[in-house]
Amino acid sequence: MKRGRMSEDINLAMVLVAAGRGTRLGGDIPKQFLPLGGSTVLAQALSRAFIGGHCNRLVLVCHPDDAEQAGDSIRQARIDPAGVLLTSGGASRQDSVRLGLEALAATGFPDDGIVLIHDAARPFLEEAVLLRAAFAALRHGAAIPVLPVADTLARLDTAGQLLDNPDRESLRVVQTPQAFRFGLVRQAHRRFAAEGRSDFTDDAGLVWAAGHPVASFAGSADLFKITHAADLARAERFLGAAAVEMRCGFGYDVHAFTDGDHVMLGGVRIPHSHALLGHSDADPLLHAMTDALLGTIGDGDIGQHFPPSDPRWKGAASRIFLAEAVRLVHAAGGRIVNLDGTVICEAPKVGPHRVAMQALIAEVTGLTPDRIGIKATTSERLGFTGRREGIAAMAVASVALPR
Ligand code: MG
Repeated sequence: MKRGRMSEDINLAMVLVAAGRGTRLGGDIPKQFLPLGGSTVLAQALSRAFIGGHCNRLVLVCHPDDAEQAGDSIRQARIDPAGVLLTSGGASRQDSVRLGLEALAATGFPDDGIVLIHDAARPFLEEAVLLRAAFAALRHGAAIPVLPVADTLARLDTAGQLLDNPDRESLRVVQTPQAFRFGLVRQAHRRFAAEGRSDFTDDAGLVWAAGHPVASFAGSADLFKITHAADLARAERFLGAAAVEMRCGFGYDVHAFTDGDHVMLGGVRIPHSHALLGHSDADPLLHAMTDALLGTIGDGDIGQHFPPSDPRWKGAASRIFLAEAVRLVHAAGGRIVNLDGTVICEAPKVGPHRVAMQALIAEVTGLTPDRIGIKATTSERLGFTGRREGIAAMAVASVALPR
């Protein structure tokens, strides 16, 4: 098979089951329509059904009373509604899947195509799982995603007393999407519907009962099912963590000593035997922090934003530069998490001014002082800082950005 989108090579469809009336999570709303991540559980599931562009048809099975809400979720998922066929479910999950498969058959979907049967209550499908499912079905005809059982299992008697501990080595937790050759799973569903059996809790069990072997492939912990309120809270946390990425940026700056009676460090005026030479107020710590912030958004450096050739910045307070870097990070949607700087010099001493520096940087950045690191070191009299020719500073910044 070629790399790239699977749909170029085979027919891949999904039957997404969202017909349950389960309101275990409270209220009158079936769980697939509960709010999640600014949309609904169903919209989150729909938004991932076409991940990677592999799936070329989707049948969404809903309760007839829920057609309007289902339409809302399709819009919220920002997928092409033309790729979604909405169909009504039946009295049981088994019936709903069968009706979904028949709706898919009515579109001319071929028997040798692959269909993924998936529950909307497992919204976080990843492309890797989808591909494992499709390849397993191509190879074996029927396959289920499984996870190992992590916990010890216990079999209890009716009084709740331990009978024995089943060997978990051969046991697996079964998830969806379950994957099948379309003709195989459709025939199995037709057969058991004709026989009046509607007690299958999943499609692999039904295909297996029809005499076809069922293979397995690795599922994913992220495919957890939303059943209880705690699952919904976990799903919100999952989306929150996935929605931001952490960036870090680095800055380094040096200014040479010249004649004078004070230096600016971290925005604080510190009396000293020399001054620092520079176009602005020559504050190496604020310059390093400014560059660190610009680094988090890939937006050049301080010299690019405030060229030394520009007379506007002659003698300028370096807090202006830091404030502009903060503004640019915010404009990019970023949130500064922390700034951490180190001043490298033999003198003056930084420690007595640390709190004042934190206060000034807090004012400019909006950070609390515990997120502003101010540290100092000498160079043990080595190198240019050791020879008291100037002051160097280094800084790192971390920024959370929407993905
Ligand atoms: Mg500088």
